[in-house]
Amino acid sequence: MATNDLRSLLRVEFGTRVRLDTIDPTETHGFEKGAAGELLEADLARLRDLQERLWAEHRQKVLIVLQGIDAAGKGGTIEHVMGAFNPAGATVTSFKVPTEPEREHDYLWRIHAATPSSGRISVFDRSHYEDVLIVRVHELVPKKVWSKRYEQINAFERTLAEEGTTILKFFLYIDRDEQRERFQARYDDPTKRWKFRLGDLDERTRWDDYIAAFEDALSRCSTSEAPWYLVPSNRKWFRNLAVARIVADTLDDLAPVYPIDPTLPEGLIIT
Ligand code: AMP
Ligand code: MG
Repeated sequence: MATNDLRSLLRVEFGTRVRLDTIDPTETHGFEKGAAGELLEADLARLRDLQERLWAEHRQKVLIVLQGIDAAGKGGTIEHVMGAFNPAGATVTSFKVPTEPEREHDYLWRIHAATPSSGRISVFDRSHYEDVLIVRVHELVPKKVWSKRYEQINAFERTLAEEGTTILKFFLYIDRDEQRERFQARYDDPTKRWKFRLGDLDERTRWDDYIAAFEDALSRCSTSEAPWYLVPSNRKWFRNLAVARIVADTLDDLAPVYPIDPTLPEGLIIT
């Protein structure tokens, strides 16, 4: 029977070798655009409710990692999905080219500093995965250095998980033609041109190298403690729905509850 459980449909099972040329980035798993708006609203309402409980409970921690090739929709996902969160209990961190002090530490230093504390949700716009993506593609460190990082990343994420952090990682997958259209649209629209840099075109010429690097990260770092979800993202409405639903289902499993203060008396009347 067909399932509409997006977590099981999109999760990369540990040990599977991901081949992105077998994935259709326009796939929508039977969902239709016309109905997607209402479904998304319902999931956003769940996210609002669950995040408030998580924040009030102040015990569990959640880390959401967003990765994707340029223009895959990391920013749009933050706006349209993470926008459901009360900013008091949620943080978005965008990881850029490392600064001087960041470069003088190991690559996980700045990452660890941005992981969530009790009750919080941290959203990463790019992450430590850049250290096996752009760093690998541009050979910013030798292969013998970056090739050890998959294991290091698994160990790091396992540590976070064992210490109480729930981790979800999303790879937003678009194809090369979709990226071309989105770049063109960014360039043509004066309100979007700020997102476009000529350097993006240089990265675009390395498309195949990025695909190979993403395939390795997805294949080697999707663990039970920190699964990757591979989200077909040519259709923005499906991407938003899939991420919202997967995060909401995961928060649901955490079952955060409003705390009860046992020292408060019953029936108190405030005068
Ligand atoms: P954007 O997300 O468009 O603002 O671009 C941020 C840029 O920073 C991207 O080109 C990333 O590849 C780059 N970046 C992020 N993390 C790293 C890293 N660890 N090493 C080198 N470049 C990075
Ligand atoms: Mg960019």
